Amino acid sequence: MRAVQLTQIGEPVEDADVPIPEIGPADVLIRVAAAGICHSDAHYRAGISQIDSLPLTLGHEVAGHVEKVGAQVANLAAGDRVCVHYLVTCGRCDFCKRGQEQFCRHVQMIGKDRDGGYAEFIKVPGANAFPLPDEIPFDVGAIIMCSSATALHALNKARFKAGESIAIFGFGGLGFSALQLARAFDCGEAYVVEINRAKLASAATTGAIAVDARAADPVQQIKEATAGRGVDVALELIGSAKTMRQAVLCLGALGRAALVGLTAESMSIHPYTELINKEVEIIGVSDHLATELPTLIEFARSGKLQFPPETLRVVDLDAAQISAALDSLQDSIDHVRTVIIPKA
Ligand SMILES: [Zn+2]
Ligand SMILES: [Zn+2]
Repeated sequence: MRAVQLTQIGEPVEDADVPIPEIGPADVLIRVAAAGICHSDAHYRAGISQIDSLPLTLGHEVAGHVEKVGAQVANLAAGDRVCVHYLVTCGRCDFCKRGQEQFCRHVQMIGKDRDGGYAEFIKVPGANAFPLPDEIPFDVGAIIMCSSATALHALNKARFKAGESIAIFGFGGLGFSALQLARAFDCGEAYVVEINRAKLASAATTGAIAVDARAADPVQQIKEATAGRGVDVALELIGSAKTMRQAVLCLGALGRAALVGLTAESMSIHPYTELINKEVEIIGVSDHLATELPTLIEFARSGKLQFPPETLRVVDLDAAQISAALDSLQDSIDHVRTVIIPKA
């Protein structure tokens, strides 16, 4: 089968001809219909995130048809439409048993620790294949399994409830999903903090309150707009110490800041005045849980989570096209997602 592989860190991905994976009794073989190209893939290629074994077929945002099922897989059959949960976990360790399987002691990330979806076929455990309703196109089914799933996990970690106000720092792929999901939870006022004019305009057209961080301190702007109260929940999706601090400072009493963006910078907080006397919480967010995915898929099925055609770009399963897409991701400022649709 055709696959596009990372063979050397820092080099372009390459076209490869590899065997169709042999499935075990608990696995399914999926004919890939769509595979999202993610910022993380650019990080793997650049060596920012460690890859243990090369060559590797990238791609952790995958949807397609079940081609073949192993003998122990009871809930799926050939021909089923599915999307893929990208964390393969052992199901036996203490974290798995407690339902916190993203910390599984034997976790493998599809498209990083094992071959992913930049290929005609992918092998995954049956437990990682989730039914994809007919209403959800494959391209959408693929991309919701990463940034949208993380956005939902962030809202869950922040214990976000109906009627609560929210400030979303960063309106890229994560923010685009987070705002829609906050709406799906019946949020109160939603503020989107950005410095990019086009993204601010895009957030405003969806009814969010656009906060231009270049115009004035976003914390002050949010405080003024909320009559000094601050918001209930803030999501930091950018990955900078400055915006993380702003996410904490714009909270009202009992507010929760969920930090999703990655940074190696240190953040400074004044414990008494900025944390303790308001009982605010700072919460780290990593990946998502399999149990969250049915809710996410239902939001996409019912149209509460949407990706209009102008937010999706399609390339073929072709190393040159995928390399170009990975290059453009490195300095992309829009929330357009690129999806590989393999030609038959
Ligand atoms: Zn991703
Ligand atoms: Zn485990």
